[in-house]
Amino acid sequence: MKNSFKFFISSICLIVLLFGCSDSEEETLNENTPAIAIPLEIYKKVYGVTSDITISGGFVYINTNGVPDHKSPYFQGTKWHDTLYEEYDAVNPNVFHTGTFNLNPNRVSELSISFKIPNSPAYSSVNSPTAMGPIGVSLNGVPFYNQYAGMNEPLTREVNSFDNYNGHPAPLSPGAENGSGGRYHYHMEPFWLTTNASKDALLGFLLDGFPVYGPEEGGKTVTSSALDAYHGHTLATKEFPSGIYHYHTTGDAPYINGSGYYGSPGTVSQ
Ligand SMILES: [Zn+2]
Ligand SMILES: [Zn+2]
Repeated sequence: MKNSFKFFISSICLIVLLFGCSDSEEETLNENTPAIAIPLEIYKKVYGVTSDITISGGFVYINTNGVPDHKSPYFQGTKWHDTLYEEYDAVNPNVFHTGTFNLNPNRVSELSISFKIPNSPAYSSVNSPTAMGPIGVSLNGVPFYNQYAGMNEPLTREVNSFDNYNGHPAPLSPGAENGSGGRYHYHMEPFWLTTNASKDALLGFLLDGFPVYGPEEGGKTVTSSALDAYHGHTLATKEFPSGIYHYHTTGDAPYINGSGYYGSPGTVSQ
């Protein structure tokens, strides 16, 4: 009798352990969820680095040169031309284009980009807007940019200069000579990463420390309407099974980030 009671109690515990949290997860995770210190192993998925990734004083430090590890027409005439230049593939056009491919005058250049990102990202009621320039780092070291081509100027025209992997270089500095080196970046889904990993894979981190995932989740396409104003939500992911706030790239605007950072951004220097 006593043993069967023990068995009954332990079975109940097991059932609670196995199924107890699955239903309530989505509702109970919100801005009050305690911050998670992201383990170094997860940051090490960022492979396009120029030095070891380190965590110190509450920040993770990630240094990259911003040069993509995939081919691009924007390597034309650069020191990587022989190995990384490829003509734009008009047979398999970039799905985001609204017209024909328009090679911009900038070419990929090697940079020295240093990201200092909070290791325990947390919600901030300030919700700082993203600036022009890098707003985060993707796994191959190429920076993410926001949804604008200039101050509040949409990507309407710029989009046709994105290569087959959805990136393009900007001038090195305002007023730089046409044809001079530039800062390569992604405003939208980095196709190289989602093709090599998967459409629901971890793609990088924004400056506030929250991870960015691809345009699918649970076998379904994520659209902006399913996300909050900052372009994310809190759910379990492969890397964070207990749930974490995360952004998604989507096929519709604003693509990576919405109206600012969900948390407090770190800094980037280049
Ligand atoms: Zn751009
Ligand atoms: Zn998600």
